Amino acid sequence: MNFQYAIALTGGIGSGKSTAASLLKLYGYAIIDADTIAHKALEQSTEEVIEIFSDIILTEGKIDRKKLANIVFKNKALRNKLENLLHPRIKEYILEQSHLLDGKNIPYFIDIPLFFETKHYDIEETLLIFVEQSTQIERIKKRNALSDEAILERINAQIPLHQKKKLAKYVINNNGDLKNLQKEIEKYLQNYLPNIKF
Ligand code: ADP
Repeated sequence: MNFQYAIALTGGIGSGKSTAASLLKLYGYAIIDADTIAHKALEQSTEEVIEIFSDIILTEGKIDRKKLANIVFKNKALRNKLENLLHPRIKEYILEQSHLLDGKNIPYFIDIPLFFETKHYDIEETLLIFVEQSTQIERIKKRNALSDEAILERINAQIPLHQKKKLAKYVINNNGDLKNLQKEIEKYLQNYLPNIKF
């Protein structure tokens, strides 16, 4: 059985998934990071990506993720094409790592930003990191040099967080400060996680 001890860690862009993942790591949990794996898959697919997008997405001979992102967030058909190319490779890596972790018989997390959108992973348990949109925009602005328009393009390419809230097994509200996020993670680990039937 795939993903026996897996918990999908998900949310929206800038909702705090990576921050939550770092905290979970501090508490000793293994994390599989789908974004890191996606970057690796992208590097290994350079030739095919150029075939789709031409060399305008290159900077000094390498795929420039910012250029690529600017194109795909404006064009759903191209976004789907890229996703169809990369997804099988990403899933293969994720499965490889999750098999190793399942062998340890302890829960682990897979940080999958688009878990609910893509429905590629048959994982029961989901931990959603939620924020209100105003906080989300504010935090993305601080983290990335993106215009308001580009931020909204990225947010609107995802299922709204209020909707994801209804789909998730457990929701952590990350509108507060980092101390609050840490407290919420501790609460989850102490009160909820031990009762999950894997
Ligand atoms: P994601 O991985 O979901 O895109 P991040 O974990 O990178 O989101 O968080 C987005 C930004 O918001 C980062 O700069 C992060 O440091 C910051 N951040 C996350 N949670 C909080 C919080 N509770 N208080 C203040 N800043 C936060």
